[in-house]
Amino acid sequence: MEPTETTSVKVGELEFPPRKVWMKTYGCQMNYHDSERIMSHLSGLNFTKTDEQSDADLVIFNTCAVRDLANQKFYSHLGEMKKLKANADVNPETGLKKNVIVAAGGCIAQTEGKELIGKYKQLDFAFGTDVVDNIGEMVYRAYAGEKKFAVTSWDRSDNYSIETKITHGSPMAFVNIIKGCDKFCSYCIVPFTRGREKSRRLEEVVKDVRRLVEFSGVQEVMLLGQNVNSYGKDNGESLGQLIMELEEIQGLERLRYTTSHPYDVTDDLVEAHRNSKKLANHLHLPVQSGSNTVLQRMLREYTAEHYLELIAKMRAANPQMTISSDIIAGFPNETEEEHEATLRLLDLAQFDFIYSYAFSARKGTKAARMNDVLSDDIRGRRLREIQDRQLKIQAAIRQGMVGRTYRVLVEEKGLSKGVTKWTGRTSCYRLVHFEPETPEQDYQWHWVDVEITSATALSTQGKVLRDLGKKP
Ligand code: SF4
Repeated sequence: MEPTETTSVKVGELEFPPRKVWMKTYGCQMNYHDSERIMSHLSGLNFTKTDEQSDADLVIFNTCAVRDLANQKFYSHLGEMKKLKANADVNPETGLKKNVIVAAGGCIAQTEGKELIGKYKQLDFAFGTDVVDNIGEMVYRAYAGEKKFAVTSWDRSDNYSIETKITHGSPMAFVNIIKGCDKFCSYCIVPFTRGREKSRRLEEVVKDVRRLVEFSGVQEVMLLGQNVNSYGKDNGESLGQLIMELEEIQGLERLRYTTSHPYDVTDDLVEAHRNSKKLANHLHLPVQSGSNTVLQRMLREYTAEHYLELIAKMRAANPQMTISSDIIAGFPNETEEEHEATLRLLDLAQFDFIYSYAFSARKGTKAARMNDVLSDDIRGRRLREIQDRQLKIQAAIRQGMVGRTYRVLVEEKGLSKGVTKWTGRTSCYRLVHFEPETPEQDYQWHWVDVEITSATALSTQGKVLRDLGKKP
């Protein structure tokens, strides 16, 4: 039976009346994609999403173990759940206090699920990254009265086969093509929280994307994986091959992929960037450091020279391409010379933007066991130097956009200093803000040609030349 706003649905022995779920997602796009899958499974149990935590019957935290800040935020939000549970409203029908169920999933729950359950009274159940598609069963168990359980098992089958689930009405969709990571970079917890690499078969992904385009109005797809360039290695297929197959799907306008490891960029991927008309003019390729000795300690399997050659090849294949990257400041025992090498690499690479972080040790990784002598002050100062250098580079690059026209897929409307502005992304992944031609003009999910009128390191403004509507 299709759930509605007012009717209950019967699942197994239980009635599921209409309920609300509030979900908080931390970390990477993979987690956001998992949250999307969770939501779609929960709609079958009569749950709808709420933005008000106090309205929620079910609270889910989809956690991230990679970044320290995301980690801390989760623990602080989990602490607040004690109050939420204690102050839950009385259900007008039963006269009983609403039974708010609190669950934690994602990377922290994968490695520490059992401990979390033991330590935090307010947490009802925890679930790992490989059991996201079993969320319905776990919620059922919780409503059936089962208390305090953790499900953190791995899917041991050889195949990785799923169907993408989307619950939003946007023309942009994340499509998981590979899960796990075999790289074991010395600072990274992901191989422990997401398991070994396993790819979906190419034929399945093509069918999945075709379905999304034909039946869900999807026009832009982001192919996802922790190490997306490794796609297909286990099946004798490749990312380049997949891109060229997806290229044939009518109605699919743009293709992106993330996140890449430089070591696994193959020639056929470079060729895909040369030949594909749908692959976006942007590549996110994390370098992490410009120093070969630090790269060695990070176990990254490439040198700064190799990285620079690789991005030169990519830019030769597609001269419109912009490249962004990730940088870690203050890796354990990084010397001033090693730090300087990163600043030099920024000058040479001319990244469009970077995500940069001060190193923080993740429990269980090799880097966490290094006898590190760097202080937080040194790390903070190096991070600022990296960011300042990048902002200068970025400002000059963005200035070069002024006077040029870009096709933008418009994502949202906002207010900036009291003025309504719409925001969209170019193929090269730059955000562009523009004012509507008339106040009531609705550009949501329109394709728009925008001429850039001004730019700073962090913001790009433009004016609409052409509104192409919902199909370019
Ligand atoms: S390739 Fe990426 S996800 Fe895999 S271990 Fe290295 S940093 Fe982590």
